[in-house]
Amino acid sequence: MSEPQICPGCANARGTEKVQHTVETDANGQQVHREHRYWSPCGRCGGAGVIHG
Ligand SMILES: [Zn+2]
Repeated sequence: MSEPQICPGCANARGTEKVQHTVETDANGQQVHREHRYWSPCGRCGGAGVIHG
């Protein structure tokens, strides 16, 4: 009865890749713009891609 179902939150993608933009100071005191890419697991299924009813 409790078949795994495709998570409606991520459609089995297990999460999304997000990009965070930050401004950091390098060794020369110059401000540089950086992109940080990170994987954010889906909150509904916890990164499993499926949920169990
Ligand atoms: Zn999900």
